[in-house]
Amino acid sequence: MFNRIIALLAILLCSFTGFSQLTSVLENNPRLRWQQINSNHFKIVFPKGFEGQAQRMANTLEHIRTPEAKSLGVEPRKISVILQNQTSNSNGFVSITPRRAEFFTMPSQNYNLSGNLDWLDLLATHEYRHIVQFQHANRGFNKALYYLFGANTLAALSYIAVPQWFWEGDAVATETAFTSSGRGRIPNFNLLFRTNLQEGRTFNYNKQYLRSYKHNIPDHYVLGYQMVSYLRKKLGKADVWENITRRAWNVPFAPFTFSNSIKKESGLYVKQLYAEMATALQQEWKEELKKIDLTPFEIIHDRSNKAYTDYEYPLSLPKILFLL
Ligand SMILES: [Zn+2]
Repeated sequence: MFNRIIALLAILLCSFTGFSQLTSVLENNPRLRWQQINSNHFKIVFPKGFEGQAQRMANTLEHIRTPEAKSLGVEPRKISVILQNQTSNSNGFVSITPRRAEFFTMPSQNYNLSGNLDWLDLLATHEYRHIVQFQHANRGFNKALYYLFGANTLAALSYIAVPQWFWEGDAVATETAFTSSGRGRIPNFNLLFRTNLQEGRTFNYNKQYLRSYKHNIPDHYVLGYQMVSYLRKKLGKADVWENITRRAWNVPFAPFTFSNSIKKESGLYVKQLYAEMATALQQEWKEELKKIDLTPFEIIHDRSNKAYTDYEYPLSLPKILFLL
């Protein structure tokens, strides 16, 4: 048995030595002059001319540092945050290979993503939670393996031990809790999940998480946000995920620890928790719908099949479309 575990570990570690290196997609002009602001817990790196926003981010990140970390029970050590302002991509990420955060500072034009928030405030609240998650993940055997094999192994095992939906769902829940907007408050974020549930397409946990070519299923951000918030509300414990993820990251190679830990906290395995959540949300949304008085309307398009159809942005197409 012991030999088998060693063999499994060796395979895992070898196959992830080339784990994706998250690097900035941006190639900056080498003439760009970089500057930095060092606060107590953040090093903000930014191109010359961007001082105003860099100052603001240094201040914001220091401000949210302790409150946003509280429900995972760790405070991250000092980290570099690079502000990239030479691209029209609107995004951000946190990596530990090497350890840093990058904010692509051009605000998103998608109001369903940014809501009423200042773009950099959204990035700060969301990405900082990922920094906290990585700090929390660096523990137990995970930490030992980090010292032995480096950051790539730590990153790979951290992702194996805890599903992607937790990482993103927890960050979306945090951005929603710590701002006056956030995706948890934006109706479009939930639209597909809500439609599916209300039309009886609950799916099982694996299908909901891994999605499908046949059915339109929302991504792990949506599933994660619902799972993370549902369990917190159900138990009335904001920090319930601290315990669950602590156990999972302590022994990242032990299968099913994440689900077993959820069972310890809630009495339900992860699949059962999902099923219970889906039923509860179905019920909640059904009740909400009952309270709405619909104004009279005429149905102008009868559905001819059961396939998911999106009528947004209708477009008339030329008769001969495929000439290539
Ligand atoms: Zn994220």
